Amino acid sequence: MSQTSNFREVERLVNGMPTSDGAGVKLLRVLTQDLQRRLDPFLMLDYFHSDKPGDYIAGFPEHPHRGFETVTYMLAGRMRHRDSAGNEGLLVPGGVQWMTAGRGLVHSELPEQEDGLMHGFQLWVNLPAKAKMTEPGYRDIAPDAIPQLTLAQGVEVKVIAGSTHGVDGAVHKDDTEPLYLDIVLPAGTSFTQPLPPEFNGFVYVYQGNALVGGRRQVVKERQMAILETRPERNGVIVAAGDTPTRLLLIAGRPLREPIAQWGPFVMNSREEVIQAVEDFNNGRF
Ligand code: FE
Repeated sequence: MSQTSNFREVERLVNGMPTSDGAGVKLLRVLTQDLQRRLDPFLMLDYFHSDKPGDYIAGFPEHPHRGFETVTYMLAGRMRHRDSAGNEGLLVPGGVQWMTAGRGLVHSELPEQEDGLMHGFQLWVNLPAKAKMTEPGYRDIAPDAIPQLTLAQGVEVKVIAGSTHGVDGAVHKDDTEPLYLDIVLPAGTSFTQPLPPEFNGFVYVYQGNALVGGRRQVVKERQMAILETRPERNGVIVAAGDTPTRLLLIAGRPLREPIAQWGPFVMNSREEVIQAVEDFNNGRF
């Protein structure tokens, strides 16, 4: 990596919290509410991985959102999405839906399969105060519309957001400049990424064991590693041990604004959250 060799170390490992959401979908909440300040602009990361229909089949029936964006990335399984404005889409394996809730919408996310594996992620990315009441919108990104690259030693990277090694990702955002990479590391290989020191970032390992940072901290399957932020640390290095490893590298520019969350509404103040509940109850979404 050119001019970048001062790699961030792991500040903390996080195991996540098994929970259920929607109409009883079992998932692992990796990024929980207590980490929202530390990982600003990211508000939540859920990981779902099950081949038992009872764990996912009820899905997420109609519910509202306001004030942020949801990013759903499927590795296996199909999810049908419908919203109050009449939009509809089908998420397929390898596809991403980047949804801007903005001033508000009501939607459902329901599995479109009776059995088989359901595997993927939902990340919540905050919107700056000035954009929280923006028009809602979607981007359904097909698997072949996500730029991919293969590096030396067979390291494969899908560039969902941001850019890496000269490849621009599918999504760019001005305020938070999110980086969202899905990285496949054959045994014994590594990957490096420059990252502005002020960005917050983390690694989530979903297969194998990773070695993160210059000190090669072991991060096990289903663990999140929060990356330290220090002025001189301007890059990230992740490696695989002696087994193939798959992980997400996610980072972004912090908004440094107040965060007020109540369930599916994330605003800057308690008053705005109360307003959101009122607007929803009065059918203004
Ligand atoms: Fe939702």
